[in-house]
Amino acid sequence: KILTSSEVRQMFLDFFQEKKHSVEPSQSLVPHEDPTLLWINSGVATLKKYFDGRVIPDNPRIVNAQKAIRTNDIENVGFTARHHTFFEMLGNFSIGEYFKEEAIEWAWEFLTSKDWVGFDPEKLSVTVHPEDEEAYKIWAERIGLPVERIIRIEENFWDIGEGPSGPNSEIFYDRGEKYGNDPKNPELYPGGENERYLEIWNLVFSQFNHNPDHTYTPLPNKNIDTGMGLERIVSVIQDTPTNFETDLFKPILEKIEEISGKTYGKAKEVDTAFKVVADHVRTVAFAIGDGALPSNEGRGYVLRRLLRRAVRFSKELGMNQPFIYQLVEVVADIMKDFYPEVSEKSDFIQNVIRKEEERFHETLQEGLAILEKIMKQEKEKGSYIFPGNEVFVLYDTYGFPKELTEEYIQDEGFQIDEAGFEKEMAAQRQRARAARQNVDSMQVQDQVLREIHVESQFTGYEQLTIQSTVAA
Ligand code: ATP
Ligand code: MG
Ligand code: MG
Ligand code: MG
Repeated sequence: KILTSSEVRQMFLDFFQEKKHSVEPSQSLVPHEDPTLLWINSGVATLKKYFDGRVIPDNPRIVNAQKAIRTNDIENVGFTARHHTFFEMLGNFSIGEYFKEEAIEWAWEFLTSKDWVGFDPEKLSVTVHPEDEEAYKIWAERIGLPVERIIRIEENFWDIGEGPSGPNSEIFYDRGEKYGNDPKNPELYPGGENERYLEIWNLVFSQFNHNPDHTYTPLPNKNIDTGMGLERIVSVIQDTPTNFETDLFKPILEKIEEISGKTYGKAKEVDTAFKVVADHVRTVAFAIGDGALPSNEGRGYVLRRLLRRAVRFSKELGMNQPFIYQLVEVVADIMKDFYPEVSEKSDFIQNVIRKEEERFHETLQEGLAILEKIMKQEKEKGSYIFPGNEVFVLYDTYGFPKELTEEYIQDEGFQIDEAGFEKEMAAQRQRARAARQNVDSMQVQDQVLREIHVESQFTGYEQLTIQSTVAA
C-alpha cells in the first residue's frame, strides 16, 4: 500500500517521538518575534528562541512539521519538479544534546527501514563538507554507505553571518535515468542543479559560533537542525514525475481541469500554468489564513505578485476571468486534518482572492497594451532597454509587479532599466513616508480618544487616571 502525504507527515512525527522528541506545533507563516524575517521559511525559523538560548525547552529534542514560504524560489515554480513557494518542512532538532551520530543514524533509519519509509538504500547518496571528516566517517563506517556515494561539496556549510553555523550533510534520492543520464555533466550529480538526484533532506550540524570578527569558535553546546520537504519525499514514495502529481496537489490540478476544460499532462506550457496556479493558490490561501493580505509592500506585495503571476500564467489555460479563488476549497480540504486554518477561514480567503483577481483583470488589458506600445517604440529606436519610469507606471498604476513586467518583456529580448526604476521607487518611498507621518499622527489621536471613551464607561478610577494622563 502506498503511503498518503498525511501518513508520511504523521510517520515522521511518530518516528521522532519514539526517539524521545517532543512535537512542536506548526506555527503561523507570519513571524511573530523576528523582524528580520518576512516569512517563516524553514522549520528552524520558529525555533530560534531555543537555538539562541532565549528560552530553554522542556525537552532538548524537538520534532515538527512546519509551514514555510520561500520567495527566492518563485521563478522556479512551474519549471522544476521540486520547488514551491509554500511547502512543509519536516524537521528534528537537538538543542545542545545529541549530535551528528544520532542525526545521521536516525535519518538513515527513517528513510531505509522497512518499518518506516523503506527506501532502497542503493538509491541514496549524500553530500558532506570537505573538512567534515566526522560526518564522512559516520556515513562510510557506521552506515556503511559506499564512498562513491559520499560526495564532498564546498557549499555544504550553513552560515547566516554572526551566530551559530556549521557544516551540513544532504541526502539525495536517485530517481533514475529517465530524469537525466549524462555522466559527464557535473550538474547531474548530487548537489548540482538536477532533477535526477533529488535533494530530500538537509542535516545541519551547528557546531561553531560565527564571531563578529568573522572567526569561528566551537560552540559549547552543539545543535542539530534538519529539514526535509514533505512534498519531495512524498513524490519519491508515490513515484510521481514531479511534486505536483502527488496527493498534495492532484485534487487542485483536477479542479483546474474542471474549470478550464484543459487537460494536465499533454503540453509543457499548459502544465507549467497548472503548476504555477496550483502552487500559488496554496501559498496565498495559507498566508491570508495566517493574517497577511495583498498590498503594495512587504508581505502583501509578495501575495499580490504571486496572484498576478498566477493570473498571467492562466492565460495558457484560456482563463480570462477570476477563478483562482474557487480552488481554495480544494486546498482547504487536502490540508484540513493537519492545518484546519484554511478551511475555517475559507470564505474570507476566497473573497480576498476574488477581489484581487477582479482588480487585476480590470487593468490587465490596458497594462499589456502599454507594455506592447513601449516595446515597439524602443525597438524602433534600436533599443532593448525597457525604461525604468515606465516599469514604475505599470507597477504603480496598472498593478504590474516589476518581476511580472520583466517576465513579459524577457520573451522579446528586453531588459529593465533597473537604475531608472529604482529612482522612481525611491521617490515614491519618500512620498509615502511623508503621507504616513500624517496618518500616524491622526491614528494616535484617534486611538487616545477611543480609549478614553471606552475605558471611562467600563472601568474604575485607576484606568481613568491612566487614560487621562495619556490624554494630557
Ligand atoms: P534546492 O537546492 O532543491 O533548492 P535547498 O538546498 O535550497 O533546496 P534547504 O534550504 O536545504 O533547500 O531546505 C531543506 C529541505 O527543504 C530541502 O532539502 C527540500 O527537501 C526542502 N525544500 C527547500 N526549498 C524548497 C522549495 N522551494 N519547495 C519545496 N521544498 C523545498
Ligand atoms: Mg533552494
Ligand atoms: Mg540545495
Ligand atoms: Mg539544501
